[in-house]
Amino acid sequence: MEYTAIFDDFLSDFIDPKKRIFVGYLGLSLIIAYVWLVAVRRSTLKTAHAQIFNRKVFFSKSARVDYKLFFINRAFSLLVSPLLITQIAIATFIFYALHRQNIVYSGQFSDANKTFVVALFSLSMFIADDFTKYFLHRWMHRWPMLWAFHKVHHSAETMTPITVYRVHPAEGILYGLRSAVAQGIVISTFIFAFGNIVDIYTIVGVNILVFFFHMAGSNLRHSHISIGYWKFLEHVFISPAQHQLHHSVADEHHDKNFGAALAIWDWLFGSLHLSEAEKDITYGLGLTESGPKTIVDMYIKPFQDISKILILNVRKVRKLLFLSSSEKPFEARFGPKL
Ligand SMILES: [Zn+2]
Ligand SMILES: [Zn+2]
Repeated sequence: MEYTAIFDDFLSDFIDPKKRIFVGYLGLSLIIAYVWLVAVRRSTLKTAHAQIFNRKVFFSKSARVDYKLFFINRAFSLLVSPLLITQIAIATFIFYALHRQNIVYSGQFSDANKTFVVALFSLSMFIADDFTKYFLHRWMHRWPMLWAFHKVHHSAETMTPITVYRVHPAEGILYGLRSAVAQGIVISTFIFAFGNIVDIYTIVGVNILVFFFHMAGSNLRHSHISIGYWKFLEHVFISPAQHQLHHSVADEHHDKNFGAALAIWDWLFGSLHLSEAEKDITYGLGLTESGPKTIVDMYIKPFQDISKILILNVRKVRKLLFLSSSEKPFEARFGPKL
């Protein structure tokens, strides 16, 4: 009985519409891939089939690591579930803090049109979530200590929908905290201003906008099917091909397309790169970066990298102090002796 319960829990992401790898979204991504290859790329159905179910991708060394990490990280995620409490705590804190200001009073707009409020709340939740994902992702690339963790995701050399789970648990915690802060702020502000008319449009329990994002083939981002949108649309939504470029080793693709669903943030902050048709992409970290080689490495190496960065910084500071103490006279460093 125990084993069945554990197994059910490990597979629960496949039957949960809140999760990207829900079977419904996977099935639709598969249909989109077939339609793209046959109708746009003019492949025969047989070629499209062979291309989609490419054994070299699904059974590659990198993909097999992804599958193992999926199961190990599920166990870690059970430990992270108390983060939900953080979200409630943040929302409650902001809600009471809002009572201390005099510009807007509690429930001031509670007579607003309910349809408008629900639509605005659903949109705000989606935008706040996507915007904070963009910035956290950008910081994970820019700050060496965060990059040490994010490198695990970028060490994938082939991409399958399960690659989305190829992340270090520390990254999972950071994204969980980000979500708690973003959602906590939006929920408390809306409840303060609009009172109990606040609600969210959902389909199968999921924010309608998140539902459409997954229905539109979010699983194809981590896949070898390179679907690009029209140029104007790639300024608004990140296409699968754009996220694939984000995983490319090529210099011109470095630090581009950090966006999750929306490309607007990349466009606004100068990191947008449109997809390139028919371009072969090599995924991974390239030759200049040392990535994790084994499963144990995936969990341990980021901490080793971080300790190296810390030691290097301590040495730099010591060198600076040492140089200044040996090269500069006492007065130059501390002022005249009294
Ligand atoms: Zn990244
Ligand atoms: Zn990715």
